[in-house]
Amino acid sequence: MINITSYNENNIFAKILKKELPSEIVYEDENIVAFKDIAPQAPIHILVIPKEKFCSFNDFIEKAKKESIAKFMKSLKTVTEVLKLEDGYRLITNVGKIGGQEVPHLHFHILAGKNMGRLTSLD
Ligand code: 5GP
Repeated sequence: MINITSYNENNIFAKILKKELPSEIVYEDENIVAFKDIAPQAPIHILVIPKEKFCSFNDFIEKAKKESIAKFMKSLKTVTEVLKLEDGYRLITNVGKIGGQEVPHLHFHILAGKNMGRLTSLD
């Protein structure tokens, strides 16, 4: 279980939020920013991050107000609508070391644009 509880203001996504680093934003509202992943794993690979500062999914669920959680989940759905993903998509959030989380600001991956196949690799 990830145990990052102290938010690092210098993480890459914090810098993207502050517009200190460039990103290809596809959607933004008062709660979230959605932008293209720099190393896409599918024809459509979007990262969705809350504007509030949370290290991970665990941190978010433990500390965020219920209203923030609800708004974030609805914004995720809005991004899929903006992207017109009527045929479906995969939604992933990696948590912790063995979950594969590299950036310590909560983010969901939206993957789409092809048949996404089986859920996990056995490698
Ligand atoms: P994680 O492994 O933490 O779940 O996902 C981090 C994601 O961030 C990876 O898919 C990686 O390609 C993406 N990423 C890392 N650095 C940057 C960056 O500077 N810009 C963008 N747009 N994506 C990044």
